[in-house]
Amino acid sequence: MKGLIIKGIGGFYYVKTAIGLLQAKGRGIFKKEGITLAVGDNVDIEVLPDGDAVINSIENRKNHFVRPPIANVDNFIVVFAAAKPKPNFTVIDKFLIMAEQSDIEPILCINKCDLVSEAELKKIQDIYRDVYPVICASGKTGKGIDQLLRYIEGKKVAFAGPSGVGKSTITNLIIPGANMETGTVSQKTDRGRHTTRHVEIFEALGGGMVFDTPGFTSFDILEAEAEELADYYPEIAAYKGQCKFDDCRHLKEPGCKVLEAVAGGRIHRARYESYLANLEEVKKRKRY
Ligand code: GDP
Ligand code: ZN
Repeated sequence: MKGLIIKGIGGFYYVKTAIGLLQAKGRGIFKKEGITLAVGDNVDIEVLPDGDAVINSIENRKNHFVRPPIANVDNFIVVFAAAKPKPNFTVIDKFLIMAEQSDIEPILCINKCDLVSEAELKKIQDIYRDVYPVICASGKTGKGIDQLLRYIEGKKVAFAGPSGVGKSTITNLIIPGANMETGTVSQKTDRGRHTTRHVEIFEALGGGMVFDTPGFTSFDILEAEAEELADYYPEIAAYKGQCKFDDCRHLKEPGCKVLEAVAGGRIHRARYESYLANLEEVKKRKRY
């Protein structure tokens, strides 16, 4: 029988099947082979004569993360705030880079739209509008939540983004009964912040599924090589192989098509500056 792992706690997995939710253990073979079952895994499950359920195999994964342990993510919804906290594009782009590296299409959600003017909002949207889908939302007024749900429909999505931008607030709006703790970091309890809570996937209003994980909130290091960083900025990657020098880093090199595109407004300057900042960070890390 086929099923979907929707929760894992203490060696037990909760598997959604055609006959309801089953609590199951993984077969010993998984441990032997070093395979950790993950929330989001599509599995084959069997109910034994004694009534216990056991997971026999897992289907090939589209992708897989170890921390948090989730699999088969269709989209990352990268959330940041229009204000409070002020957007830091170098940081936001790190989340987008992570998505590109994992081959997961990111959807940008600019939250707290209620705090800025239309003109300010447009300025932020303009940075990304040609590159990724952008949704303007407000967890406070409910603006944009319908649009967000349309992106989630039929998919398994995970939220990512800095803390304090409203991920928990939005999650509570789209998953009935999620009850994620919201507030500033100092308001959130120690339990909420520090324990490795279990991960679960919930059904969102309108049919999609959302991984309820606090896991994708920060990066200690940007795991990318200097040579490949440009590949993770789609609008920069579009010029791959067109610069005069094959190893062009798009800094000051003559005949650089990326620099020309920035000057011509075809690549947004904020994205180019984020590329430079992240390149610097990647290089600095290499020197240690
Ligand atoms: P998280 O750390 O990303 O999960 O952020 P939270 O959901 O905990 O939100 C942080 C703070 O921002 C809370 O005090 C929320 O009430 C507030 N907040 C969330 N969404 C909005 C919004 O759209 N507008 C405004 N003005 N405040 C919001
Ligand atoms: Zn170049």
